[in-house]
Amino acid sequence: MNKDQTPPVSNFIRNIVINDLESGKHDKIATRFPPEPNGHLHIGHAKSICLNFGLAAEFGGTTNLRFDDTNPLKESEDFAQAIMNDVRWLGFEWNELRHASDYFQQLYEYAIYLIKNGKAYVDSQDAEAVRSSRGSFGVEGKESPYRNRSVEENLDLFERMKNGEFADGEHLLRARIDMTSGNMHMRDPAIYRIRKVPHHRTGDKWNIYPMYDWAHGISDAIEGITHSICTLEFEDHRPLYNWFLDNIPAPCHPRQIEFARGNLDFTVMSKRKLRELVEEGHVSGWDDPRMPTIAGLRRRGYTAKSIRTFWKEAGVAKADSIIPVGVLENAVRNDMNENAPRAMAVLDPVKVILTNYPEGESEWLEAPLHPQKPEMGLRQVPMGRELWIERGDFMEEPPRKFFRLKPGGEVRLRNAFIIKCVDFVKDAEGKVVEIHCEYDPDSRSGLPGAARKVKGTIHWVSVEHGLTAEVRMYDRLFNVPNPLADKDRDYREFLNPHSLDIVDNAIVEPVVSKGKPGDYFQFERVGYFTIDEDSANSDRPILNRTVSLRDSWAKINR
Ligand code: ATP
Ligand code: MG
Repeated sequence: MNKDQTPPVSNFIRNIVINDLESGKHDKIATRFPPEPNGHLHIGHAKSICLNFGLAAEFGGTTNLRFDDTNPLKESEDFAQAIMNDVRWLGFEWNELRHASDYFQQLYEYAIYLIKNGKAYVDSQDAEAVRSSRGSFGVEGKESPYRNRSVEENLDLFERMKNGEFADGEHLLRARIDMTSGNMHMRDPAIYRIRKVPHHRTGDKWNIYPMYDWAHGISDAIEGITHSICTLEFEDHRPLYNWFLDNIPAPCHPRQIEFARGNLDFTVMSKRKLRELVEEGHVSGWDDPRMPTIAGLRRRGYTAKSIRTFWKEAGVAKADSIIPVGVLENAVRNDMNENAPRAMAVLDPVKVILTNYPEGESEWLEAPLHPQKPEMGLRQVPMGRELWIERGDFMEEPPRKFFRLKPGGEVRLRNAFIIKCVDFVKDAEGKVVEIHCEYDPDSRSGLPGAARKVKGTIHWVSVEHGLTAEVRMYDRLFNVPNPLADKDRDYREFLNPHSLDIVDNAIVEPVVSKGKPGDYFQFERVGYFTIDEDSANSDRPILNRTVSLRDSWAKINR
């Protein structure tokens, strides 16, 4: 059993692992999660994290966190720190922290090994010539005029590339495989390019940097990875992955296995696009609660457990699919329904005066923190002569089936008394500003009169005790399921202009002020809300709506 205490869900990768352990191919499995530190992790990465760490945990193996830091132009230490934080927050701990840059020397030596065996050469064509001579599907590539350089010349040029004697793009080290291969990745792929830029970990030691395919498989082999799990777009790279490991004295030969990326609708998931949204100010940052990043989901109020459960239930397959975001929302809704303490909040308040309630008095009623979980205990709910209720819970001229408050009608105040509307006051514009009610003191929850039934129950907060709060109501960041579907239009045209609606005078029960950022509540009848970190610098609580009580998009879109 894993830490979520639910049985594992089988999938084809898990079956491969089971076979490899049973056949004795491996005594122990070793996996890795290899992010490039060029942005924050998103919910798709969490799929890979849950898979890699989950398999190792289930079968007593290990998982390394390896930063794939071979592209010094786009990477930073800050991103690396954020990634570590996110992996730990998701509930996983790596065996060892590694960097592809830890292996720059070994990668370089293996390249020399290839050169010495006539399996790599320095190409001095310019980038355009390299590109155009690669051919295309159905069109064979043409061999470079430099392909048959002598080993000595290649070794000399490669060393001088390393020493910084040439400008970016002047030469390229390429594997010498097959320019006629049906697999484009096998047409003498680049292994090293000149990049005269410092690296955030190795400083200015290197003037050449390894290409992804070269660095990746060898890093796996150096670390003794048994199952190198990656997404489907690397399927075509697998012959190259294997060729590299077959042509150097690699310490072992990991098996690459591909699975389908996790995709969600109503969002975008590539780091490049997420970075655009941040840099162009469409969102407040990588951790904007509307972002599909781990940091954004966390701030929104998603629990780590809900994300793990979501990916577990989504399964692992080889066919691409897009999961409705409602499924992710359901995962956090279920988790919060089970665990969130209950409280009351009024988002659009209108005042109720209990005309028969003694003036100047108040009382503290007891209410369960969770109606199905008595072990969570009770909370104290203050009540007085003046209350806030939701404007929408009162109607002057209601339709027949309106069971909330109406002139002459009765309704139960949640966790408290039955009240009857006797009068109401409107302002000059005709807006209701005050509702007068009488309460039935014998009908309090817990008293014998509580058994008296009325059709509706509404939530409320005491005017004297309630706190004003800012509530950030989030909705989907895009207003179409796939913002990338229309190739003629930019995905940013589909940003949802109503993805954030700030309610700045909501009223919440005082218990909310005891919470700290990250704590969450179910506001009864309203939804699930999490205290935002901005509360720390604010004189009033700031809450994010994590998810509504029910899926309101389900009706509209599907
Ligand atoms: P992006 O397209 O968002 O930039 P990436 O694949 O370039 O993603 P990496 O940092 O290279 O991001 O990814 C680290 C690991 O996470 C890789 O093994 C990659 O296959 C995996 N991964 C990335 N996106 C997804 C996804 N949507 N679903 C599952 N795994 C993913
Ligand atoms: Mg990448």
